[in-house]
Amino acid sequence: MKTIGLLGGMSWNSTADYYRLINEGVARRLGGLHSAKIILHSFDFDEIEQLQSGGLWAEAAVKLSEAAGSLKSAGAEFLVIATNTMHKVADEVESASGLPMLHIAESAGESVKKMGLKKVGLLGTRFTMSEGFYSSRLTEKFGIEVLVPDANEQQIINSIIYDELCRGCIQDASRWACQLIIENLVSRGAEGIVLACTELPLLIKQSDVMVPVFDTSRLHVTAAVARALA
Ligand code: GLU
Repeated sequence: MKTIGLLGGMSWNSTADYYRLINEGVARRLGGLHSAKIILHSFDFDEIEQLQSGGLWAEAAVKLSEAAGSLKSAGAEFLVIATNTMHKVADEVESASGLPMLHIAESAGESVKKMGLKKVGLLGTRFTMSEGFYSSRLTEKFGIEVLVPDANEQQIINSIIYDELCRGCIQDASRWACQLIIENLVSRGAEGIVLACTELPLLIKQSDVMVPVFDTSRLHVTAAVARALA
């Protein structure tokens, strides 16, 4: 079994799910007392959020690269970054650390493609929705057309993520707000919804939405387990 280097704490709520789901996946595949080999570096999310909101992406890339480098030195064989947003600096982190990465958007893209969908709606932080790094990976690598919510809707989702979900707060009113935004995306032609924020599945489940929902955390975890056991 390969050792997974996990960069987490962005936020810790979703990293806790990654840790549990990876271990459950390995236990299911291998049975008995088996569990995953994971080396976790968990950030203080406040430090990361300050870099994000200050637009200090180069500094963020250095911070993640140093952590990934230490995971490699400790024996990690591949890297899993447990957040969609920080994949904005994924290429820099992979090349600076020398640790091969399992890209979260690629786990999502493979699943959308397998289901035969051509056009999806993307929900995530304002960075993930409004900057091209995530959509372009889905479009260029998998031929998927990506729709994003309008500016006002993006602001609503972004606040729900940072002010509520990253603090462990789950509210029905926020779920309803997301459902309305999703309905708008569906009426614009979205055949599925990519939850491109690792906290959104804490709020939105498949049963809340009428089209297929792609939970990027779960897809990333499934890919990580497969790679660890390949
Ligand atoms: N975990 C979230 C994501 O998947 C948002 C928090 C962050 O900015 O890392 O994008």
